[in-house]
Amino acid sequence: MIATLLVGMLCVYLLSFTVMFLLISRRLRGEKMGMDVFAVGNLMLGGAYVLQLLEGAPGWNLMSVANHTLTLCSLLAYCVGGARFFGLNTPLLRPLLCLALGYCAAQALANWGWGSLGRYVMLAGACAVWFVGMVAMLVHGMRSFARDLRGEMLLFAGLISGICVLNVIKLVKLLSGGLAGLAADQQFQMVFYVYMCSLATILPPSIVWLVLRRLTDTLRASAACDPMTQLLNRRGLSAELEGYFRRGRQAHLLLIDVDHFKHINDNYGHHVGDAVLCGVADALRGAVRKEDLLCRLGGEEFVAICVGGDDPSALALAERVREAIERKPMLQGPDYVGLRCTVTIGVSGSFDSEAGLDHALQEADAALYRGKHAGRNRVEVKPGSESGFRPAALARA
Ligand code: GH3
Ligand code: MG
Ligand code: MG
Repeated sequence: MIATLLVGMLCVYLLSFTVMFLLISRRLRGEKMGMDVFAVGNLMLGGAYVLQLLEGAPGWNLMSVANHTLTLCSLLAYCVGGARFFGLNTPLLRPLLCLALGYCAAQALANWGWGSLGRYVMLAGACAVWFVGMVAMLVHGMRSFARDLRGEMLLFAGLISGICVLNVIKLVKLLSGGLAGLAADQQFQMVFYVYMCSLATILPPSIVWLVLRRLTDTLRASAACDPMTQLLNRRGLSAELEGYFRRGRQAHLLLIDVDHFKHINDNYGHHVGDAVLCGVADALRGAVRKEDLLCRLGGEEFVAICVGGDDPSALALAERVREAIERKPMLQGPDYVGLRCTVTIGVSGSFDSEAGLDHALQEADAALYRGKHAGRNRVEVKPGSESGFRPAALARA
């Protein structure tokens, strides 16, 4: 009686989360993150348990064959859902059909050879092997493609290991005592269904949590990023700087402005202007060090934050950036032979707090202004740094 109640609850959990997964996948439209496939998995497992409630005593009948097939196919659907969550375009329908047909045939063979016991042994064994594969994949994911979701992967691996162990115990019981022995062990049946209910209660909300995490991460990243160049925007720069300064580091700000960019737009068109901006962003990425930050402030103005260095190293970085952009062929093709792109760079003094960012911007802007007036394609330092902290070219003059 209690076992029937537990299986009934299991059906309700699985089927109601099927609806929730479907609703979420409809909202996601483009990239569904595997939600639609998880819904299919839940629907099949829920359906399998409904059949279990209806089928009565174990035996060779359509409901029982369908129950076992749906159970195994649901595991495949969960795996495909997981793969799609991680961005793989794994097919579902054909593998599902092949597995369903293949497993029906295998059940017929097992039933022919060993009767109903053969089918039940085969299901417990197949599930146990499948769960071992799932746990291995989750552990592999923790070290590679899902490093950012280690906690969640560990939880899934732990829960799935539990159901794997229960299937192995079930297999042993079936092999030693047959179907009658398993049916007589009410305590094991109870533990099995309580564990399944716990899984059905914990796993689907955890999957919803994963989707929520992915969505908020994407949202946060796109709010901090310039869509054209994929560099940080002003908001993203402030957020990153907060982290740097919490670690007690100091920085210099390089304000980089493309020279005569309006001419590029006017002579070649806005789309070429956009391509040049992307080319400048690439050149910046190639010129700075790994820990430095890059931001497109707006229009044709960029910021590079030279982290942790002193005045001469900030100047050296600015010079490296200027040269890299001057050398880079922005666009290939005969139409763009005369297309040149240079930048003028203003360098601020050092600052060590996010609050100092505005002041550093003003200093770099003043330096940039001087650089533009002095002829462009050059590096200028903040006004008042004429001795010591100055570009080599100026120092020689
Ligand atoms: P200077 O050397 O003094 O900096 O001259 P400039 O022409 O680079 O400066 P100005 O501020 O006069 O022109 C900047 C131009 O950048 C004007 C604007 O149309 C263009 N611009 C701003 N944002 C974008 C963009 O996203 N794409 C393109 N193609 N052009 C842009
Ligand atoms: Mg400008
Ligand atoms: Mg400009």
